[in-house]
Amino acid sequence: MGNSIQNICKGTCPKCNKGKIFEQNGLLYKLRMPKMHVNCEVCGYKFEKEPGYFYGAMYVSYMLTVGEAIMLYFILSYVLKFADNFQIFLIISVAMIGLSFFNMRISRTIWIHLFTS
Ligand SMILES: [Zn+2]
Repeated sequence: MGNSIQNICKGTCPKCNKGKIFEQNGLLYKLRMPKMHVNCEVCGYKFEKEPGYFYGAMYVSYMLTVGEAIMLYFILSYVLKFADNFQIFLIISVAMIGLSFFNMRISRTIWIHLFTS
């Protein structure tokens, strides 16, 4: 289990743990989404088992987003003592846009690892 968490963080193939799942990072300022390899470069494992396979990853991404927003809210209002709800809302919105690429990447990686034994 600890091992697979490590691999999720590194974004490596669930089969061989060597090949990278993503070809390149997304670039927010270019509005370029992270690009995935079709097959693992090392063992040839096909990451998208079937069309629509990553549909479920959207739920993972959604849960991550909600979790991050709640965490951020607590940090802003209780740790940094922001009192203005509108300000908090703005900061959270901007942070969520910034985190969306990260979330997409990590949710797909989690998804792939969840269904590969
Ligand atoms: Zn592999």
